[in-house]
Amino acid sequence: VCGAGSDELITLLIRAYAGPGDEVLYSQHGFLMYPIATKGVGAVPVTAAETNMTTSVDALLAAVTEKTKIVFVANPNNPTGTYINDAEMKRLRDGLREDIVLVVDAAYAEFMTGQEDYSAGEELVRAGKNTVMTRTFSKIYGLGGIRLGWCYAPVDIADVLQRLRNPFNVALPTQEAGLAALDDDEFVNACVRHNAETLAWFRDQVNAIDGLIAHPSYGNFVLVEFPKEEGKNADAANDFMMAQGVIPRKIGAYGLPQMLRISIGTKEEMEICLKAIKDFVNR
Ligand SMILES: *Cc1c(COP(=O)(O)O)cnc(C)c1O
Repeated sequence: VCGAGSDELITLLIRAYAGPGDEVLYSQHGFLMYPIATKGVGAVPVTAAETNMTTSVDALLAAVTEKTKIVFVANPNNPTGTYINDAEMKRLRDGLREDIVLVVDAAYAEFMTGQEDYSAGEELVRAGKNTVMTRTFSKIYGLGGIRLGWCYAPVDIADVLQRLRNPFNVALPTQEAGLAALDDDEFVNACVRHNAETLAWFRDQVNAIDGLIAHPSYGNFVLVEFPKEEGKNADAANDFMMAQGVIPRKIGAYGLPQMLRISIGTKEEMEICLKAIKDFVNR
């Protein structure tokens, strides 16, 4: 099923399978569309603690109640950039009641080419126990503005989503752009390579700065952790960088107020970003 971004599919899944009194479960620093859409249907968002900013299958399973209807795992997750391996995701599915829908949000799957223990979730969908995989053209394809996402789901779930979505949810120019993008392997490969190289370089550069930590990431962004002191913290860094024309992302709403999320751009853009960070630290 295609949607106006995977965000629309997330919203449709929640509208289809959760309502007032029900619980939708996701991990502590999980993608914010899950609680936003959950509140929109009058259901209750429930979080499970993470370990080292990584989804914990044990914590998710422990947080399941009779009211749990859907479990969301962004894998890799935004904004943490961490992932759980195929065996862990299977262990999660096996530990959930069969009537709970597991949504594997694989928005960054294309960036995971080097990770042999990773799976985007298609096998679990095929295994037929109420698992859905969502994907998007917004990340590796760089087409966030055309609004195109898709999900792979068991037939009965796909049928429900087809009935719930607006009949013309994906515009024709968007469909054409998506089809063209699917043929552009060269662009995808170049992006994967560029992201891997530039992310590693950027992390090394930031980690060489006293007091800052650039956390490992499997996405196309890095979390930079700042000291807690006023004037040196993430809020101050954000204001300083914004004034230089560099736009990081504050992620206090994700429970990570001491960090900024920085997207990987061109090498030139990352050099400008790095200079802004250095100027902030040395000012
Ligand atoms: C970006 C993102 C999405 C949604 O992207 P769309 O633009 O709506 O397709 C979903 N999940 C995660 C984890 C994301 O980072």
